[in-house]
Amino acid sequence: GMEQVDTVILGAGAAGLFCAGSILRQAGERAGRIIVLDHARAPGEKIRISGGGRCNFTNLATGRDRFVSGNPRFAASALAGFTPGDFVALVDRAGIAWHEKTLGQLFCDGSARQVIDMLLHRMRGAELRLGTAVAGVERAGDGFVVATPGEPLAARRVVVATGGKSIPKMGATGIGYDIAARFGLALAEPRAGLVPLTFAQQDLDLCRPLAGLSVAAEVSHGAGRRRTSFRDGLLFTHRGLSGPAILQISSFWRPGEEIAVDLAPDADVAAALREIRGQGGRMAVASALTRWLPARLAEAIAAEAGLAGARLADQGNATLDRLGARVNRWALRPVGTEGWRTAEVTVGGVDTRALDSRSMQVKSVPGLYFIGEVVDVTGWLGGYNFQWAWASAHAAARAIAAG
Ligand code: FAD
Repeated sequence: GMEQVDTVILGAGAAGLFCAGSILRQAGERAGRIIVLDHARAPGEKIRISGGGRCNFTNLATGRDRFVSGNPRFAASALAGFTPGDFVALVDRAGIAWHEKTLGQLFCDGSARQVIDMLLHRMRGAELRLGTAVAGVERAGDGFVVATPGEPLAARRVVVATGGKSIPKMGATGIGYDIAARFGLALAEPRAGLVPLTFAQQDLDLCRPLAGLSVAAEVSHGAGRRRTSFRDGLLFTHRGLSGPAILQISSFWRPGEEIAVDLAPDADVAAALREIRGQGGRMAVASALTRWLPARLAEAIAAEAGLAGARLADQGNATLDRLGARVNRWALRPVGTEGWRTAEVTVGGVDTRALDSRSMQVKSVPGLYFIGEVVDVTGWLGGYNFQWAWASAHAAARAIAAG
């Protein structure tokens, strides 16, 4: 008859590998037979390329406010049940050296490969079956049948850890969403997140000559209580603007909306320009702007305002206010994103209302679990997405080990 398994985990990425290890650690002998399936030839491919090859494996500032979700409260329970400190303890025990880069972001000193090796070591006792695409999952009695191009598998429990749609070249497919739909679960429309935005020609005209320049800026989106802002690096490129501040805001941006860039977030530039003008002198407008901006950017902004070579002393208040606004509140309307090809994550996914927040089990389908990026919980840039993968995997594993 059909091959029988206690738990089939779909996807050998961060969440799937960690879940297998966590079931084994918690259930011991009672873990039963566990198979982790993946169509890729190697496990943890996204871990391997993450964090520039050093894997930003968690963030010390983890909390539910660091995640985008239709229900921001959903993630709290799993995040509290497995913290950054818990993952650091595993990393330490494995002898992996790490450092804090900035803003609570923890990276390996050496290579992301070390994290993959740790996860594989931790799941010894489970079977890793690579090169096996998952075609679908069906209910069969109290359990499930997992369809593959070869023989199907019968499983008592199925954990869907197939990730999101970002970077199809790395193995991403929408199979997790298809499985959710098959079981009647709602979906928050998946869209590209942590992705460079694309810009209209008028914005490119300013950005292109500055390509390679990086500044500290505050990029914001929305207004009032719905305003979201990130203070981080902003990079001028041939395609417009990129860098961490843009990637962060991309997860909140929707087509048609504006973003605002503050190029001097600690200064009121209009007021300061008036003050400098009041002190007299023959300073050029562009030179005055270099107080806050790199010279190339200051010159570009002065030129754009028709003030190349103009003296500050000759400018009226209205002009200085306009210049100040250009620096402190540069409004841009992106035309799109670079899409799945370069997105680091998928925003949206399986609607959390279908899931039990303590176990990640589908409320209406006992034995079926969704963990990791396939769920509508998306972290900010900075290690939060892996922390969600670990924490959601741990929550499911605890429930499975107990059952
Ligand atoms: P994944 O790790 O994507 O694993 C899903 C697995 O399912 C894959 O192995 C895939 O091959 C498999 N699969 C998909 N479809 C099928 C199918 N039909 N049949 C069989 N198998 C299938 N996050 C951080 O926190 N820190 C970082 O430093 C960081 N850097 C990143 C850098 C890049 C370039 C990218 C793209 C992402 C980065 N992320 C980072 C995000 C992070 O990699 C993901 O959020 C995380 O990997 C999600 O884990 P997951 O297990 O849910 O999904």
